Amino acid sequence: MNRVYNFAAGPAILPEPVLQQASDEMMNYRGSGMSVTEISHRSALFEEMLEQAQSDLRDLVSIPSNYKILFLQGGASTQFAMVPLNLMRNRKADYVMTGSWASKAAQEAAQYGDIKILASSQDRNWSYIPDVSDLPVRPEADYVHICQNNTIFGTRYKELPDTRDKILVSDMSSCLLSEPLDVSRYGLIFAGAQKNLGPAGLTLVIIREDLVTEDVLPGTPTMLTYKTHADHNSMYNTPPVFAIYMCGLVLQWLKGQGGLKVMGERNTRKAALLYDFLDQSMLFKGTVEPDFRSLMNIPFVTGNDTLDKQFIKEAEARGLHNLKGHRSVGGMRASIYNAMPEEGVASLVKFLTEFEEEHKNDKGL
Ligand code: PMP
Repeated sequence: MNRVYNFAAGPAILPEPVLQQASDEMMNYRGSGMSVTEISHRSALFEEMLEQAQSDLRDLVSIPSNYKILFLQGGASTQFAMVPLNLMRNRKADYVMTGSWASKAAQEAAQYGDIKILASSQDRNWSYIPDVSDLPVRPEADYVHICQNNTIFGTRYKELPDTRDKILVSDMSSCLLSEPLDVSRYGLIFAGAQKNLGPAGLTLVIIREDLVTEDVLPGTPTMLTYKTHADHNSMYNTPPVFAIYMCGLVLQWLKGQGGLKVMGERNTRKAALLYDFLDQSMLFKGTVEPDFRSLMNIPFVTGNDTLDKQFIKEAEARGLHNLKGHRSVGGMRASIYNAMPEEGVASLVKFLTEFEEEHKNDKGL
């Protein structure tokens, strides 16, 4: 089997046992004589699968009973519109700017109401998280939006903002399920699945029950109303059956690994392996201020474009794939989601060490 270590930001690496099970079941799902991509979403087989995935998720994350779990489509980007359409009763919302995804969310929301930027880290190319302990949240704001882990720039919140009792909405696309989480601190969490949850095509929303109402902005399409999906248990229309199936397998894998506490410890060890290397390296350096370093997405550079390109090419020849950084940061980025084994990060660090040894004198190429 010729598998590589895939460091892509998303779609991203999935656990091998999950892929293996999906492959084994592909032709005949649970004795149905049909593939899981062929079964009806109205069948008992699918309903069981959906319920299992929901209850596994509720278990894993300890989601309180007054929160709904919704399996939607349209990616996290659709949530940038759904959140304001459903929650912006006063047509005012406050956003914290920590990079491209937070900015895109705010731009989308600005179509529907008045957006205030509470804080921003743009001044140092998004390399940190601004102080959120005393934000000027407006008394009439409908919610405060954050992007909790910034996939492109590799920063994450260590402390949640003081929202002054306003609803906290969090884009957790690239960090959900990477460590334990206190759902009760949020009004709404959303995540595109294609990082830690499963394949692209599924968007997960965890929403407090009282926020699921008919009181949405005029003209909100039926499909963009949370209540539509909550009332129909995510089966108002055809749900992304295959993506939900895969997500269900990932959730079972996570449970088998010991749950989010174990994942959090493992992810902390994995990230430390790479950050410790970067901190002592003479050639490579991380681009994020130490206090705000992501556990999931780790950007780094040599400071020399030619050398960066050479590194990425040679890494690929060693089976270390998709290390090219996002175009707005340059250099490299290693995304090390739950499914990336510790050996994958160790292999990367080994190659970084060798590359540095060979090139430490030609930084001025
Ligand atoms: N938010 C974050 C933090 C992301 O990393 C991404 C991209 N993967 C998005 C939103 C947009 O997600 P999607 O492509 O699912 O719309």
